[in-house]
Amino acid sequence: MAKKYEDVLKEMSKLSEEEIKKRMETASKICANYCGKCPTYSGTGETKLLFCGIGKSEMIEEEKGCMCPPCPVQSEMNLRWQYYCTRGSGREQLEKEKSS
Ligand code: SF4
Ligand code: SF4
Repeated sequence: MAKKYEDVLKEMSKLSEEEIKKRMETASKICANYCGKCPTYSGTGETKLLFCGIGKSEMIEEEKGCMCPPCPVQSEMNLRWQYYCTRGSGREQLEKEKSS
């Protein structure tokens, strides 16, 4: 069976804090080329990245298109949502999906 985001979360829970920090740094660099260049992000004054992990932005309000679907972090983590900056992290959108 294909690996799902749920499986990735389980794997990540076994990693050390150091390893998670390293992975987040690498993912942030990739994210800068997607979130950082996305129309929803541009001009909002937001400087944070990696909303799939950290959850909603406090500065972004209007959805104007999302670059997450082609982002390599999305496929590597088996994420399947988008607009993490306005709709919440992968974990949060997973919870919403489960409760709907
Ligand atoms: S989560 Fe999607 S919509 Fe939000 S800034 Fe990143 S690419 Fe753009
Ligand atoms: S999936 Fe979206 S929020 Fe996550 S790293 Fe990629 S562009 Fe950034």
